[in-house]
Amino acid sequence: MSYPGDAEFGFELVTCRWAEHAWPPDRDADAIPVVARQLGTQRRRWDTVVVEADPTALAARAAFGNRALDSDLLHVVRNAPAEWAWYRDALPHPGYPWRYVRAAIHRADARGVVETRRDGNRIEIRQIAPYPDWVRRIVAIENKPDLDASAARALADQLEHDVATALADEVWVATAATGATVEPALLEDLPVEAGVLALDFDGDPEATVAWHPATLDPTADTSLSASEKADKRLEIAERAYGDGWRSYVETMRPDCRWFELRERAGAFVPWCAAKERHPTAAECSGSCPEFQPEPPAWRTKGWPIEGGPGKGIQRLLADRRRRRR
Ligand code: SF4
Repeated sequence: MSYPGDAEFGFELVTCRWAEHAWPPDRDADAIPVVARQLGTQRRRWDTVVVEADPTALAARAAFGNRALDSDLLHVVRNAPAEWAWYRDALPHPGYPWRYVRAAIHRADARGVVETRRDGNRIEIRQIAPYPDWVRRIVAIENKPDLDASAARALADQLEHDVATALADEVWVATAATGATVEPALLEDLPVEAGVLALDFDGDPEATVAWHPATLDPTADTSLSASEKADKRLEIAERAYGDGWRSYVETMRPDCRWFELRERAGAFVPWCAAKERHPTAAECSGSCPEFQPEPPAWRTKGWPIEGGPGKGIQRLLADRRRRRR
């Protein structure tokens, strides 16, 4: 299978789709994979993130809505008491002024993820349910469909950083299967702790583990303390839950007359009919010189309530994201 236009973007999307159905490739697990792309920290963004979720706890997470809870909301939701209490008694001091906590409480209330009431001047809060411990493991995957020697060397530093930081439980490189085994010389350039996965998307997707990863220890202090990592991991997991991997369409131009989705290995991958190739997420933007708005005539069916094909594409992907949850 080739990935014209931008190899990595197309490969990334089909890898996400495969992971959603087939993760993990190297062991039995009853965990549910929650898959997202381009997530991480300010310092490091991973191509694909798989959050291995506890099935029962993941179902309980649904009580808090489809959207991600950011760090401020998590502070409120995770510490909200089962019985009514003044918020300053109930929540640990966040390390920043209480007025920001009050703002977060109002946001949490508006989203229905915490209950509030007034007792005179005091705001009292109560949990809607205990926030579940739904994240078992976090797996980071770098996608390199053409894993040649220079790509392996370029990746090595990033992967060494991931291994040393141990923010994820495992790190992998996913590459396109070529029919040949992954060159041992390439593996030499990568840290031994990183797994290597060869993915074949010609026909039914197949995954071969070329190298098993080591299990990292996110509870150890590294360049980040264990507690910083616990907070960051939950924020990453929440963003994965909220965004999924199909949200790429929100930063592209499905309202362009040339924008299409083509099915590749079960995933919908953007196709530009003007350029006759898969566009990158960066080029398919408002600054694209070939952007043309979809003609109003395309929108006559139900427009403006339903929107044109662009809106249809957004709805289709949002619907898939919802059904996946
Ligand atoms: S012409 Fe530009 S904006 Fe339109 S689909 Fe192609 S890449 Fe995207």
